[in-house]
Amino acid sequence: MQMLVGFHRRGMVAVLPECAIPSLALVVLLCGTPGGKLEAAGNHPGASCRSLDSHPYDAQNGCRMDDLEHLFRSNREWASSILRSHPGFFSKLAEQQSPKYLWIGCSDSRVPANEIVGLLPGELFVHRNVGNVVVHSDLNCLSVMQFAVEVLKVEHIIVCGHYGCSAVRAAVMKERHGLADNWLRHIQDVHEQHHELLEVIHDGATLTDRVCELNVLSQALNVCRTTIIEDAWARQQPLSVSAWIYGIHDGLLRDLDFTSKSPGKASARYSRAVENLRQASA
Ligand SMILES: [Zn+2]
Repeated sequence: MQMLVGFHRRGMVAVLPECAIPSLALVVLLCGTPGGKLEAAGNHPGASCRSLDSHPYDAQNGCRMDDLEHLFRSNREWASSILRSHPGFFSKLAEQQSPKYLWIGCSDSRVPANEIVGLLPGELFVHRNVGNVVVHSDLNCLSVMQFAVEVLKVEHIIVCGHYGCSAVRAAVMKERHGLADNWLRHIQDVHEQHHELLEVIHDGATLTDRVCELNVLSQALNVCRTTIIEDAWARQQPLSVSAWIYGIHDGLLRDLDFTSKSPGKASARYSRAVENLRQASA
């Protein structure tokens, strides 16, 4: 994976252009001054929604900046449409957020969390990474979870994978992509843990999809075993953890029959959900 970082005269551009996994491709654009001071877009005097118009070509990074202008145009149209249906929406949202749900999902661009469950900004707290993996040493994911549970007091955590996941396919096929292989190792562990269940499946796509399902269940159980969730349940905080999977091919969510609301039930719910998949594979 190669990472390029450059400074446009009005901003910084960070690009990961040659990742073998499409969903890992990342572009970050931060508005800034020529002196390097970063500025937030919006009301800040140094920010402008049209500032990119006068800089059509970024020689250092080799891309046409006006290629992105349509995103600003779409943004203005989107904000206007929200205000037409919900007057004062953004001014209210700026004061506070009170989402009921934490979504832990895959970074894949085809799985936009808010859109597929029809929720507006402010209604869904989101953490996404490659393969919707929950690792007990991942401070990023744990920090999101702690903030969501202890500060925002979300009532539901949804771990949602998706069929046809490139990360899962790479893990199952033991493809090599460099640094990402170490992250995908967690999914390979899930594959190996359920080797007996999976060995009866000989079709590659079906095998990948079954590992997608098992991976979601495994990560949901990992959520339940974090100190954050254990502590929340110990103080009787209402909180459920669920495992869902999304079909890119039909736009529909499936419940994997794992929902836990207490520490004593998580392992049993996980075993039952895995048994359902075993019977479906037989
Ligand atoms: Zn994915």
